[in-house]
Amino acid sequence: MKPSPMQQRLLDRVEEDREEIIAFLRGFLQVPSPNPPGDTRQATRYITEYLDSKNIDYKVVGPDPEKPNIVSTLDTEKPGRHLILNGHIDVFPVGNPDGWSHKPWGGELVDGKIYGRGACDMKTGTTASIYTYAVFNELVDEIKGKLTLTAVSDEETGGRLGAGWLVENMPETMGDCVINGEPSSPYTIRFGEKGILWLHVTVRSKGGHGAYPHLSPNPIKIAAKLITELETLNETPVDYPPNLLKAINEGRVEAEKALGTGGADVMSRLSVNIGSITGGVKINVIPRECSFEVDLRLPPGLSREQVLPRVEAILDKYPGASYEEIRYDGPLWSPPDYEMIETMRANSRLLGIDPKPIISLGGSDLKFWRSHKIPSYYYGPMNHGMGTVDEYVEIEELMHIVKVHLLSAYQYLTQ
Ligand SMILES: [Zn+2]
Repeated sequence: MKPSPMQQRLLDRVEEDREEIIAFLRGFLQVPSPNPPGDTRQATRYITEYLDSKNIDYKVVGPDPEKPNIVSTLDTEKPGRHLILNGHIDVFPVGNPDGWSHKPWGGELVDGKIYGRGACDMKTGTTASIYTYAVFNELVDEIKGKLTLTAVSDEETGGRLGAGWLVENMPETMGDCVINGEPSSPYTIRFGEKGILWLHVTVRSKGGHGAYPHLSPNPIKIAAKLITELETLNETPVDYPPNLLKAINEGRVEAEKALGTGGADVMSRLSVNIGSITGGVKINVIPRECSFEVDLRLPPGLSREQVLPRVEAILDKYPGASYEEIRYDGPLWSPPDYEMIETMRANSRLLGIDPKPIISLGGSDLKFWRSHKIPSYYYGPMNHGMGTVDEYVEIEELMHIVKVHLLSAYQYLTQ
């Protein structure tokens, strides 16, 4: 497929702005916004100065002044749909900077790559949203409906003070569709995310002297066997909605590329992680207690109600074992066959890549919109060093993401 004249015009526009886009991202990376602690005032100011330079009005809002959110709506006053652009401003902390070969807050450009904490998660995606919004302010006569930019804080610690607050308090942030540029890799578009079920398991016994193992079971030994058996939860059958199953099966190759080898399998089933374990007081004592934390991730089609009876059936086999639920957020997804997916795929195909819709393993701010049944999708760069050292984005990937966001928003607001 060749781009239409309209698409070509937008693609040319992005190329004309190449240096501006690169400079914006590099500057954005040079303003630290690690979360925790999550103070994003300086990075927020960086964005508002850019919007000021384009004469774009905005509001800075939120319940915590140190964690501001930017909201701006472009209302064409012509009937049409309302598209939301969303990206987060905060990033993971750096921790020990040893091991970085480029400064974590340097925004350095080396060999076609831009380095810095947040380069992929997600200042590239947020740059795509902000740039797209700025261009539409010039193209307002060509589009209809409304476009709202939401650049938010607090995503890395759950989003309650950011996207969650906007969705609850600002009706203008609720639209017909949301797009976001979290790292997905150019090969996949994320239409859903796995759910989280966290359990705290405790094994108790009488305890005693280590030389008298015949007098009391050992809770650590029981926990070890129990942990091994919990792994069988991986095989819990999943009753996928049919359109989801189709997307999951069709996206397996791309999921492997984007999530790493084995990712397609983990995406489509329950997964078990044991995150911590405590027990025992001394080498020659049979402990009275051992406890551990279990992080279960549930694919769409599976809920707590289906998983907990299986957990209980396993625990029942082990004397002294009990559990407590710490957290539950069910899996959330938007239709994998909604038009925005097709639009993004078609626009990316113009640039040589056909991304497939898949599910994310981790969570994102889109959960807030998805829980209100607003179709929400993310499409962003490849994960290079996310959460670890030498995080970077390739410039050509940055340009690819910006182009797909701009073209897709244009199409959504002109049809
Ligand atoms: Zn993120």
